[in-house]
Amino acid sequence: MEFIFLGGAMEIGASSIYVKAGGKRFLLDSGIRQSGTKDPLPDFRTIQEQGGLDAVIVSHAHMDHIGTLPIISKAYPNARIYMTVMTAELTRVLLYDSLKIMAHREDEIPHYTEQDVLDMLGRVTPMRYQAELSILEDVRLTLYPAGHIAGAACACLATEEGTLFYSGDFAAFSQRTIEGIHVPKLRPDVAIVETTYGNRLHANRQVEERRLVELVRECTACGQKVLIPAFALGRSQEVLLILRAAMQNEELPSVPVYVDGMVRDINTVYTRNPTFLKNALGKRILRGGEPFYTKEIQPVAPSQNREALLETKGAAVIVSSSGMLTGGPSMQYAKKLVQSEDACIIITGYQDEESPGRQLLNLLENKEERKITLDGTTIPVKCRVEQVGLSAHGDKSEITALLERLSARQVFLVHGNEETVREYGKELAMADYRRHVYLPECGQAYPVEIRKKRQQLDNTLPYTMQKTTAFTAKDAPLLWAYWREHYSGRRFPVSQIAVIWHGRQQEEDVLQQMQGILTESPYFSPNMRQLFLFEANNEEEVEKALAPKEWTMQDLELLVQEHFTAFPYRKMGYYQDRHEIVLLFDYPDSIDKTLFCERAAAFQESTGWTISVNPSMNHTAAGSLLYAAFGSRLQKTSYYVDKKQYAVTISGEEENDREAAEEFYRQTGWLLCINGKCPDSRNAAVRTAANQIPAQELEYMFTPSNAAMQPVEQNLAFSCIEQSFAGLPDQIEKKSIRQDERGKYLEFSFVSPMVGLRYREEIQRIADQIGWRIRIADKVNQNTLFQRIRMLCAEQGIALAKNPSYIPDRRVVVVKTAEAADTEKQAAVAETFQKQTGCGCEFG
Ligand SMILES: [Zn+2]
Ligand SMILES: [Zn+2]
Repeated sequence: MEFIFLGGAMEIGASSIYVKAGGKRFLLDSGIRQSGTKDPLPDFRTIQEQGGLDAVIVSHAHMDHIGTLPIISKAYPNARIYMTVMTAELTRVLLYDSLKIMAHREDEIPHYTEQDVLDMLGRVTPMRYQAELSILEDVRLTLYPAGHIAGAACACLATEEGTLFYSGDFAAFSQRTIEGIHVPKLRPDVAIVETTYGNRLHANRQVEERRLVELVRECTACGQKVLIPAFALGRSQEVLLILRAAMQNEELPSVPVYVDGMVRDINTVYTRNPTFLKNALGKRILRGGEPFYTKEIQPVAPSQNREALLETKGAAVIVSSSGMLTGGPSMQYAKKLVQSEDACIIITGYQDEESPGRQLLNLLENKEERKITLDGTTIPVKCRVEQVGLSAHGDKSEITALLERLSARQVFLVHGNEETVREYGKELAMADYRRHVYLPECGQAYPVEIRKKRQQLDNTLPYTMQKTTAFTAKDAPLLWAYWREHYSGRRFPVSQIAVIWHGRQQEEDVLQQMQGILTESPYFSPNMRQLFLFEANNEEEVEKALAPKEWTMQDLELLVQEHFTAFPYRKMGYYQDRHEIVLLFDYPDSIDKTLFCERAAAFQESTGWTISVNPSMNHTAAGSLLYAAFGSRLQKTSYYVDKKQYAVTISGEEENDREAAEEFYRQTGWLLCINGKCPDSRNAAVRTAANQIPAQELEYMFTPSNAAMQPVEQNLAFSCIEQSFAGLPDQIEKKSIRQDERGKYLEFSFVSPMVGLRYREEIQRIADQIGWRIRIADKVNQNTLFQRIRMLCAEQGIALAKNPSYIPDRRVVVVKTAEAADTEKQAAVAETFQKQTGCGCEFG
């Protein structure tokens, strides 16, 4: 078998794979690139060079899979085209639509004519799912439901030379219009799978759907116009069904929803093909029901004036193509709506780098540049912009599960951007050494010999090292030198590398381990395009890989946070020259030294930086601690550094003074002598108490209700949090990743923990959504407190005599005023301050 990738490799767009197998030549998909700058066509010249085409197989009707079908079919009229019945119908609608667009664009030569489309459609053999068809001599084709959009198929092509599985675009989760991918255990020899979201995990679908409803409810409640630009095929139908269900369940008040653009034609095709839809929806249609429209949800009639529609009073929702605002009615609506403060645009899908939709998404991160270029004109953006993730592609876990199910030895990753493909490919290769992972590039040919593969003998290597010990990372230089001496410039799969090392074939677990070591080793690299083949790096590469990594301050700060969460350090000092970090504690003698050394060793191992503790105690903090314990009874305080001991003289001894001394030791690690009486030894009981979690702690921790849920990827979690807090009166000042004995968790710092506790419900809901444990930091931000109090006092014309101070125990800020007090003004300040920060305020 041979595979040549004409398009859609290391990119999303122009999917087109040329396959030679069993003496026949196939084309899997024939898409188009729609992102402005690159050539829109796949590299079709190759087909001619390779001697033509016997059949075309089409996965689904998105333009990046069908956009050049008329061209290729015109060039090879004898090649039959295979696709599902529904894809055939949708293809007709989409290609006719693009004919219309071509006719309107003067700058581009039409790539094909209506006649070409008609001729091509005449060569289509429509198929049903799971019905095997002999398409050529000795070649059988079966299509399986792929999820993604209605009619989408995975193709299984059985040839004399081996069996090939092509996923097309797929999704495993169930959507409103269709179920997820459904394939039996096929055991193909080669699998080609899409990798659109190979590096991320999706948020829960229901959560995203609810968010969409919530946003529409919020905006329409204030009488706003909401534009939801959506891909005509797939996404729009999902959006309409979500809105329809929400109105039926009364989660959304009745509001007019206008459906515009090609969406209307696609809806018609859906309605005509109920058997390709999800059971309940299909049944509704078969019973004579209308799937998408209701008295609220209506298509915009061709005669209807769009401007007038926007000028009607009151709230309305518009669902219209195109999805990226690159054309179609959605662009016309957007031109008006972006300029209005009473409008909201909700983006629901993937946005190309150069699309106007992407400009809107960028606004979400970068608040200053509120501009968009639509149809050549730059317009300021005044409307609200939101994003809801309703992807129709499988995420990383779904791709992995599909590959596991197929258990193909040869895996090609396509339909993903380069970074994603490389990252996911590396992970796949690491996970199973037997899997040959290819990261194909456009224009490259990949021969795969399936039958011969197993007959290849590993012991044909003339030089072996005959080692009896297992290969470890430390052995890499030795193997590297040997490799370069005897096999210079050659590439080997891990099974053969094991033979070089041990002199004979090895068990699977040995190979698996070796694969991991080789992938991470500075001495070897997996081949760029065939991840299962390793190469010995040259000297220069090794040197570069071995050079110590220069960490940035931020990197280190994060790493220190991760490694030393259990330690309440106050500050970090960096010493770049000697690669050392010094942690400052209030009470360095109270920390668990054994644990610290353990963490410090791990830290040094991974970063090359040493980490140490500044031994000085913070005596100001200790002084406050004593003052808090004894108050005005405290008469004299002294300390002895050599003995690590404090001594106090207090008036009127009390029963619980002994406890106070123990508490002091627990917190600071220093003994406390009261009126000359010193505790005799540092007893162990005190030490254990230090390790107990105070009961209060639990109140600040929020655990996901579903304990089995895997935490979502970090960036996704952060964006989920931001979305949840958007528009709330108080914001999270800092989100950090921390670690305790149960693993990683997120910590939210608010201006004060009291403010954080106002959002118990929200935080619990976020924890449930993202699957992370979340803790509210039990610390106030003194800077913010002082800033706020100064501002409030200034507003009321109260002059401060000196800087405010904060009393942690009582969570109160003390303010000394310059002049005699106006109690009314002070009360006003105190009240607002309490509202803003949850902290009290006292004037003195
Ligand atoms: Zn697609
Ligand atoms: Zn696609």
